[in-house]
Amino acid sequence: MTDVIVVGAGPAGASAALTAARAGLEVVLLERGPFPGSKNAYGGVVYGRVLDDVLPGWYDEVPVQRWVTRRSTMVLTDTQALTVDFRSTAWGEAPYNGCTTFRADFDSWLANKAVEAGAQLVTSTVATGLLVENGVVVGVTTDRPDGDLRAKVVIAADGVNSFLAKQLGLLPKTDAAHLTLGVKEVLSLPREVIDERFGVRGDEGVDVEILGCTRGIAGGGFVYTNKDSLSVGVVVSIDGLAKSGIRPEELIADLKAHPAVAPWVQGAEVKEYAAHLIPEGGYDHLPELSAPGFLVTGDAAGLCLAAGIWLEGVNFAIGSGLAAGKAAAGHVQRDEPLTSYKQDLEGSFVLQDHKRLRKAPGLVLSDRVQQQYPGMIADLVEGMFTVTNPTAKPGVLTLLRRSAKKHGVKLRHLAADGLSGGRTFR
Ligand SMILES: Cc1cc2nc3c(=O)[nH]c(=O)nc-3n(C[C@H](O)[C@H](O)[C@H](O)COP(=O)(O)OP(=O)(O)OC[C@H]3O[C@@H](n4cnc5c(N)ncnc54)[C@H](O)[C@@H]3O)c2cc1C
Repeated sequence: MTDVIVVGAGPAGASAALTAARAGLEVVLLERGPFPGSKNAYGGVVYGRVLDDVLPGWYDEVPVQRWVTRRSTMVLTDTQALTVDFRSTAWGEAPYNGCTTFRADFDSWLANKAVEAGAQLVTSTVATGLLVENGVVVGVTTDRPDGDLRAKVVIAADGVNSFLAKQLGLLPKTDAAHLTLGVKEVLSLPREVIDERFGVRGDEGVDVEILGCTRGIAGGGFVYTNKDSLSVGVVVSIDGLAKSGIRPEELIADLKAHPAVAPWVQGAEVKEYAAHLIPEGGYDHLPELSAPGFLVTGDAAGLCLAAGIWLEGVNFAIGSGLAAGKAAAGHVQRDEPLTSYKQDLEGSFVLQDHKRLRKAPGLVLSDRVQQQYPGMIADLVEGMFTVTNPTAKPGVLTLLRRSAKKHGVKLRHLAADGLSGGRTFR
């Protein structure tokens, strides 16, 4: 019998194992892949400040591709592109803001921190179920011969659609309405070509988030710069994708062919393709986070923050994993209830951000935001900047009315959505 079994060596599991091991617990960290990160797909940006306290100076050793110093938000129609582009030199210096990194590198690095703290990492091993006695989780079954393992606490960090949380009835049956599908390609390009095309130098990198590139299916797209490759992808509603009959790779092909994106990816070769689910239900659809002998963390608990302009899963997985490891230590060493885990999360950014942004997924994925507003905004801006001489410039209100009418947007809906956006993101 060990103190803690953590299932999954992604960011949530590695962080949970790290705090539990540092507290002096005997920890087994199970990973189904041959090494941490080998099975993990994501877009590409990690916001590492969550590690400031637990791994001071993390930024000097994290396996970085590029530090994100430019963040662009783009609205596309088939023929137009409106970009709000922000860059900051502060983001290119310690303590930094975000970095692009590959999951095989990042997850291995973080899991190794747990190992250095004393956790035992066991790879190529699948936890196939929970051992439950008298309503208390007492261990896991694995796919190894004689592979049952017993522990005082089991932490499920097994990612979206957690099989283990489902076994306990903490997660409802798979609900496609609260899941999106993310697909991405990694495209190789020489480093100097990326520097030139994106206007960056050295370790500087770019994060571009895109709305209006998914043929009206609720979702969005992204382009991130790595050292000598780009990550290009889309995240779309599963229901919408199924109804449309469109294949996700067609959406990536559209994005790469868009006049605003094509010059960035010209001549690039696809070296990797990946697809993965994202839990996007938000605060209103979070499961119970603990049960006797059991904690659930990271994507397994639906804690990825997908709120339109933010897609932050890794930092939320780390934040919740650290708290899960701490709660497990309190339980084993001082008999504290595992429910302290949720209280801890309520006092941290993990549940505070989710609670504050609880309406964001509904708003951002709404039909108007997805299907009507991109065209309306692009036409409004095109109208503002098109010089109509010899006719005088039309007023902005006239242009707004004109573009709203063209895209079937009622001004009262626009005002209501503006108000609701203001309340959601205040
Ligand atoms: C396309 C896409 C783009 C994204 N972009 C970003 C981004 O740019 N930035 C960001 O912060 N987040 C992003 N996310 C979200 C982010 O990837 C997740 O929120 C994050 O990976 C969650 O971490 P986790 O540790 O909870 O789960 P995971 O990373 O999924 O890790 C779960 C681990 O458990 C292992 N495992 C699963 N089942 C078992 C089992 N039964 N036994 C043993 N091991 C098991 C898996 O192999 C895996 O290593 C993106 C996601 C997708 C799909």
